[in-house]
Amino acid sequence: MRTPRMLRRLRKNVQLSIITLMGLFGILGITPYAIYRLSTGNYLVGSADSVIVASTVLALIYAWRTGDTVKPGIYLAVIFSAGATLIAINLGINGLFWIYPLILFNFYMVSPGKALLATILVLLSLVTYGQLKPGSVFESHYQMVSFLVTSMTAGTLSFIFAYRTNSQRDRLQLLATHDSLTGARNRRAMNEELKIAASTYRRHDNTYGVLIMDLDHFKQINDSYGHQAGDQVLINFVELIKNVSRKEDRLFRFGGEEFLLLLPNTERSGLLAAAEHLRQQVNQHLRGPGGGVSMSIGGAILRRDEHWRDLLQRADQRLYRAKSAGRNCVIIDDAPITDTLSAS
Ligand code: GH3
Ligand code: MG
Ligand code: MG
Repeated sequence: MRTPRMLRRLRKNVQLSIITLMGLFGILGITPYAIYRLSTGNYLVGSADSVIVASTVLALIYAWRTGDTVKPGIYLAVIFSAGATLIAINLGINGLFWIYPLILFNFYMVSPGKALLATILVLLSLVTYGQLKPGSVFESHYQMVSFLVTSMTAGTLSFIFAYRTNSQRDRLQLLATHDSLTGARNRRAMNEELKIAASTYRRHDNTYGVLIMDLDHFKQINDSYGHQAGDQVLINFVELIKNVSRKEDRLFRFGGEEFLLLLPNTERSGLLAAAEHLRQQVNQHLRGPGGGVSMSIGGAILRRDEHWRDLLQRADQRLYRAKSAGRNCVIIDDAPITDTLSAS
């Protein structure tokens, strides 16, 4: 049972698998050196190697236990950079070869900016030490310049590659989770977040409310003024809702002109107040080419052990009732009093 779960985690969490792979490389690659240096009496390098191996084991345990890969990444980058610098200072040209894989290692562990900074700091330390103690790190001035130029080239190329990869990954992530017209999160993101909300409620007792908001008579805007005018109303609607809802509330485009707002830490009375506030704001501020646009809202509070699809179904049923009740109104599940909050 244990192995498949670990494999699943590795497959789902790219950064965890990189840290694990690099960590195992570090442990398997450096342990023989640590034993060799200690057994031949080079205690400084042997100790540095041992500290690197022990730190790597600790960082891996931390990353697997907490799921946090950022702190172990920074920790490993610092330890490996300091260790490799010490080893290069002690061994001279034979140790300098390790700086090249170190540069790549850092770009795998931390953000491109931090990795470039680590590279510059390592090179500066080596050059400063080499200048203070001529002949210790570099055998000649020419060797030092060659080393600096080649390692800086490796660092710069790695930076460009890592930066491009990161920005493409962020862009893909944005495209996969957001609606391109309005910028609201899409249905795929909504399903994921509702799943997380349901399990968070089970484990930590955090309460959640959802509101399904549907623009009233939206088809008429399209039919009378064209699709583009309708699109603009949707864009303005999302901007307005983002401005008047709380920072922690999450807005998703549920369907064409239907949107879902997920409200964490919200009880029934808070959900009703929020829905009514949103309804009034839209009623007052959302304008289409033919005048004001209103919306109807159906809402529900997540119940313990309820599947998120059932929560959506309850909210959707209330929305249907709000439409039947004449539109521009709010109906929250299990709170009959809300039925009276209607058009003003
Ligand atoms: P109700 O008050 O009952 O909600 O009426 P309605 O006209 O808003 O509802 P209906 O479901 O009949 O129409 C929804 C319309 O939304 C139909 C569809 O063409 C339009 N729509 C869906 N997605 C988009 C979009 O991305 N852009 C535009 N402009 N219109 C869209
Ligand atoms: Mg509608
Ligand atoms: Mg609709």
